[in-house]
Amino acid sequence: MSIAQNLELILSNIPKHVTLVAVSKTKPVGDIMEAYNAGQRIFGENKIQEMVDKHNQMPKDIQWHMIGHVQRNKVKYMAEFVSLIHGVDSFKLLKEINKQAKKHDRIINCLLQIKIADEDSKFGMSVNDTKHILQSEALKELKHICVTGVMGMATFTDDTNQIKREFNQLKSVFDELKTLQTKNCQLQTVSMGMSGDYQLAIDCGSTMIRVGSSIFGTRNY
Ligand SMILES: *Cc1c(COP(=O)(O)O)cnc(C)c1O
Repeated sequence: MSIAQNLELILSNIPKHVTLVAVSKTKPVGDIMEAYNAGQRIFGENKIQEMVDKHNQMPKDIQWHMIGHVQRNKVKYMAEFVSLIHGVDSFKLLKEINKQAKKHDRIINCLLQIKIADEDSKFGMSVNDTKHILQSEALKELKHICVTGVMGMATFTDDTNQIKREFNQLKSVFDELKTLQTKNCQLQTVSMGMSGDYQLAIDCGSTMIRVGSSIFGTRNY
């Protein structure tokens, strides 16, 4: 099947309130243009330099999402255009994003990455650290960021029950935290679910899925 057909199939299988992020990491601009021409406008990348290069070459109405781990010293390269940063995992990083967004007179939307998997390899903050940040006075000073939701990655396993437990955990943390609405904390997004588990994630309350290989085919690293 073509990229356009893959996209169509996925979109026909997900509810309207769920946003599809097409994960285009490692894929060439030609492949991404195929998805663009089929109507897709939201793309996710996990390396800042790669996202900047693609942004420079591609139509400017694309919304670029940074879905990977973010190094603080590289935020400046994407601050001018990034539309959503999924993997924010510290207050220090939020501060740097705020600083760089200010230079461009923008507000950058961020998701806090919460560690739900029981694998050491996965990034993310504890639920307590997340609560602490969202309730802090210091957050209110960051006028150039807005925390719009949470993101999580389930354990890489065949055990559907475990994945479900982890997704349910993220959703319940979200439900608990979303009562904390302030000017720069407006929780509305639960980013969870990838090619292998997005249906399950949606059943568990995901509002944003990040799908790569089911659209673009397997990646060659
Ligand atoms: C690569 C990646 C995805 C997409 O994975 P697929 O299994 O190809 O759909 C989703 N989220 C993150 C954070 C990723 O790095």
